[in-house]
Formats: sequence, structure tokens, C-alpha cells
Amino acid sequence: MYDYLIVGAGLYGAVFARLATDAGKKVLVIDKRATVAGNIYTEKQEGINVHIYGAHIFHTNNKEVWDYLNRFAVFNRFTNSPVANYKGELYSLPFNMYTFNKMWGVVTPEEAAAKIAEQRKEIAGEPKNLEEQAISLVGRDIYEKLIKGYTEKQWGRDCKDLPAFIIKRLPVRLTFDNNYFNALYQGIPIGGYTKMIENMLEGIEVRLNTDYLKDRDALNKLADTVVYTGPIDAYFDYSLGTLEYRSVRFENETLDKPSFQGNAAVNYTDRETPWTRIIEHKWFEFGKDENGNDLPKTVISREYSSEWKPGDEPYYPVNDEKNGALYEKYRDLASAEKNVIFGGRLGEYKYYDMDKTVEAAIAKFNAQ
Ligand code: UDP
Repeated sequence: MYDYLIVGAGLYGAVFARLATDAGKKVLVIDKRATVAGNIYTEKQEGINVHIYGAHIFHTNNKEVWDYLNRFAVFNRFTNSPVANYKGELYSLPFNMYTFNKMWGVVTPEEAAAKIAEQRKEIAGEPKNLEEQAISLVGRDIYEKLIKGYTEKQWGRDCKDLPAFIIKRLPVRLTFDNNYFNALYQGIPIGGYTKMIENMLEGIEVRLNTDYLKDRDALNKLADTVVYTGPIDAYFDYSLGTLEYRSVRFENETLDKPSFQGNAAVNYTDRETPWTRIIEHKWFEFGKDENGNDLPKTVISREYSSEWKPGDEPYYPVNDEKNGALYEKYRDLASAEKNVIFGGRLGEYKYYDMDKTVEAAIAKFNAQ
């Protein structure tokens, strides 16, 4: 008999499993996939740690979370500075003085602020949706070239139908700071995320290729408490309807040249290019192998966003009003469920970053 059956060997499940094990509990982790690490799974190809389920750049302001993860990995000094490609024009991200200079020719922070102030006048009152929020943050020119097309490709919805908070994730700076994140701590685990999760799960029993929802009666008998990190609507057999998710598809290519785009991430912000971004994985580790040697080849991933349908991997919850309301109903069902904890991006239907996922797992465990 186990104290905890943890469904999902991703970041939330692995942190919870480690904490419980360290507290003397008996834990079994299962995952329907053949691999651990959920969507932060990385795999070595051509000497490069490839982020198989999309780019993950760890960043946090929470020292407790940072210190906790540093028990299981050494993080490198990678700082995310994506480039936006709008029909061949390149812009720095996040929105900063380099972006404003290229867009408007402005040179000083005052000039940039004046330009934004002039363009935001078209929005009266509190921004009601992503479009209004974006224009009010950076003005219409940047909205049209760097936000509208990208966002509509990523979410498959009009910017007027998306919640404002999504765009508030991005900083707007009147400085020449290209760091995409406002975070005290940032980096990529040296050796890959998979290694970090494996270290976390050391000494813990893990059963892969085990689908909880297909065999839940038998599996439930194994433990006092279940920690479920899969989609909450799937847990309840979609009885109240399906929540919407966005899925992502990657086309990976290995190229026999040292560099394709010279940066880890290039976002294609026009509407016509079918992919949202291209990731060149070697730049997460400065183009070097673990001995500091330059890597001769490169692996790139074109990322295509699509509406999730049964059978696809869910990546992003669509946190609009309609789905929010449905999630609330599932959450009521979940709280009536005895001895089951729902956690993580899918279990809580929340657009969690990795640090918030770790934070949530620690808080949940401490509340037990
Ligand atoms: N976004 C954008 N243009 C960009 C990058 C991001 O308009 O070049 C917007 C878009 O709406 C996206 C949101 O900012 O959904 C958050 O982007 P982030 O990079 O945080 O998304 P993630 O890395 O989680 O996919």
C-alpha cells in the first residue's frame, strides 16, 4: 500500500513525489507516456538537448523555488531574448528601446513613451480584452506587427475574444534590456530537464506506459491519496463538457550547419507564416556540448499551434470566460472527490509557468 499514487511524472508530480518521499511517505508515480518529465522532457540529438514538447526556460522570483530546484540541477546562465520576425523585419523582444527604435526611429525613453501615449489614446477606460490591453501597453503599430498575428495563430481566436492577462505576461521596458522575463533567477538545467526530473525521482518507484484513466479502479486501490495531474475534465469523463486547450505540433529538422538563426527563439509575428516560432535548441546551451566544444550540426523545431481535439496532447488551457465557468464546475466536482488532489497546468486548468507549478506543488504538499 502506498500513501500517494501520483498520476503524471511531470514537474508537479515529480516535486510532490520528492517532497512526500522525503517526508517518509511511500509513493508510486505513474505516467501514460514512456518517458518522465511531462512536457519539459528533453532528449539528446546531435549532442543537443532538444525540448521535445516546446521550449522551456526556467525563470522565477521565488528564492525558495529556485533553491529547491538547484538541489536537482545546476542551471546555466541562459537569458531568453527572442527575436520577432515580421515579414523579414527583425525586432527585439520583449518590447524595449531596441524595439521602439526600430519601429519608430525614436532614440530616447521620453520619445518612446510619448509615442506610446499618443497611440494608446484610442483606448478609453479599462482594457476589456487582449487587443485593448496590447494597444494600451504599446500602441497600435506594435500591436499590428508584433502581437496580433502571433497571438491569433497561437490561440486560434481573435484578440478581441482573448483575456487581457495573457499579454500582461510580457514586459514593456523603456530601457535597452532584452531579457524576456522579469525574474531574479533564470536558466536552463545543464544536461537537460529530463535529467533534473530523473534526479528528483531518484529512489522513487515509477511505472511508465500506465494510463490511470484506463485502469483507475485497480490503481486507486494501491494508495490512500491520489495526486492527479492530468486534464480535470478527462478525470470526470467530460461529463460536464470538454474544456478547450491549445495543442502544439512540432516539425523538427536536423541541419548540417552550425547555425540556422543565431538565436534560441525567433517568433514569426505575421499572420501568413503558418508556424508561430522556430526554436533552435543548441542556443539554450550556447551552441556547445558539455565539454565546451562547438557543435557542428543544429536541430530546429517549427512550432504550429492548433485547437486541441481528443487524442492530441493538451498544452495550454484557454482561460477565457466560457472555459473559466466550466472549469469552476469541474472544480466543485473535484473538491467533493475524496482523497484526490488535482494539480498542475492540466489538473488546475491554469496557464502555470514552471516556477508557479513548483510553488503550487510545494504549497499543496505542505497543506497535507
Ligand atoms: N506574444 C505576442 N508576440 C510575441 C510573443 C508573445 O503577441 O512575439 C503574446 C501572445 O499573445 C502570447 C503571449 O504574448 O500568447 C504570451 O507569450 P509567452 O511567450 O509568454 O507564451 P509561451 O512562451 O507560454 O507560449
